[in-house]
Amino acid sequence: MNIEQVLVDYFHRYLAISSQSDSQATIVPSSEGQRALAIQLQNDLGAMGYDETKLLDNSTLIAHFPGNKPSAKKLGFVAHLDTVDVGLSPDIKPQQLHYSGSPLCLNKGQNIIVSEESHPELARYLGQEILFSDGTSVLGADNKAAIAVMMTLAKSLWEDPVDHGDLYFAFTPDEEIGLRGAKELPMELFPVDHCYTIDCCERGEVIHETFNAGSAVLNIEGITAHPMSAKNVLVNPNLVATDFINMLNDMGKPEQTDGREGYFWVTDIQGCQNKACVSVSIRDFDLTGYESRKQYLESLAKFLKTKHPKAVIQLSITDIYSNIAQAMGGDIEALDRLYQVLSDLEIPAKSIAMRGGTDGSALSAKGLFTPNFFTGAHNFHSPFEFLPIPSFVDSYRVAYRLMEIA
Ligand SMILES: [Zn+2]
Repeated sequence: MNIEQVLVDYFHRYLAISSQSDSQATIVPSSEGQRALAIQLQNDLGAMGYDETKLLDNSTLIAHFPGNKPSAKKLGFVAHLDTVDVGLSPDIKPQQLHYSGSPLCLNKGQNIIVSEESHPELARYLGQEILFSDGTSVLGADNKAAIAVMMTLAKSLWEDPVDHGDLYFAFTPDEEIGLRGAKELPMELFPVDHCYTIDCCERGEVIHETFNAGSAVLNIEGITAHPMSAKNVLVNPNLVATDFINMLNDMGKPEQTDGREGYFWVTDIQGCQNKACVSVSIRDFDLTGYESRKQYLESLAKFLKTKHPKAVIQLSITDIYSNIAQAMGGDIEALDRLYQVLSDLEIPAKSIAMRGGTDGSALSAKGLFTPNFFTGAHNFHSPFEFLPIPSFVDSYRVAYRLMEIA
């Protein structure tokens, strides 16, 4: 089996099914395309000869590949079905280009060019074949490269059987809009010892830390009055909102922080004469830091109530996902094995604390420590997302080797 060809073929096959998620939807999956993709994957596994697949109502597809090594660790891989909606075309037209060092034209009609000047990371892939979109959409390697890796693994196991332990795949909906599918994953149908998401990141990257993430909404009701009779009567909710935002200023903002620093991000403000609403994202790697950020917001709400006693002020805070490292506890075997595999394959490992979340953040909150390894792609959520084919093949080799040593 020509691994590279099978990977690229599967990648194109699943890109052809548009599957953007829709953050406005209130059901899972948030879009029909994700359902269509899950059905396609189930059919493709069925055509190979696998019948232990389960398609759930929310379009999560779980596949079980029974092993013949009972002593082996039960291994799980997770990839998400949706691509992100960042206002680009939902339909993806991939192309394969050879990178020889000069700027590459992604789209003649719209004059979309990618070069080392704007994307210096390209320099590392000199002489390689690279997959790009046509510049009007994301490439969708996030996360269809991972889906292709898993389907290629299934095909390889069917065509060239090797001894292995129990293997499980979960294809989850709506990762990009708050890990909604992974949060609903029924763990009794996914009884694995070691679990990995395959997502994002250049060759060699390993994520074993993500943010703790939450969102806060401050609702303010003021008192309206005509300005001629406003003295000591009118309570302007917009000014209460401004007070609130000003008090967040010194606590870190996304544009001022990096590495392991947390932040508050004011993502939305709405206001009129009688009410206002402020939405804030809360992020911190450290659980204590995250909890104290939440307490800080509570204390601000209390302070604002004292300062503006006639306003009705309500703060609500929702936890969204947690740092995968918190589920690691003393059991770092899953991570050790991943580093061992990278070393076996002579792929230099790069550990990063991801300033975001993965499906692993939701699974780790359920107690299953789930680190992430690379698909090989760069520039997610951008029209300049690209996937060097040798890195893509290496992502597959890591998955295969994890199965071998389980
Ligand atoms: Zn992703």
